[in-house]
Amino acid sequence: MHELSIACEIFEQVMATATEHGATEVKHVTLQMGRLSHTNPEQLSFCFKAIAEESIAKDADFIVEMVPPSLECECGYTGTIDEKQIRESCQFKSELLAYVAAMECPICGKEANITGGRELIIKSIEIETENQD
Ligand SMILES: [Zn+2]
Repeated sequence: MHELSIACEIFEQVMATATEHGATEVKHVTLQMGRLSHTNPEQLSFCFKAIAEESIAKDADFIVEMVPPSLECECGYTGTIDEKQIRESCQFKSELLAYVAAMECPICGKEANITGGRELIIKSIEIETENQD
């Protein structure tokens, strides 16, 4: 499963950061996930919880923020496709991909390039540390 390997990578990064900062508990993990990434947020969250079960991240809240696709045109136009537009136009991910791939620049009408929406990054990690003095 695709989500499992991603969840592993995220878990390793989270644990590396947590260890570096002397964390005793990981409280929140916030991800930014592009709408065009081939990843299911529920499955990813489920996999992360399974992997983190024996770790200090076992009770962490796993928050996924969806990022809309963004476009760029050679005329200088940049923009994102808003959530409302996506919901009205596309029921499935395959429809979304086709929809975004066919996007034209609203300024000059040329084919726009997709510049965002495939990312999957850890936005922030919130940890608990034990102060020893
Ligand atoms: Zn243009």
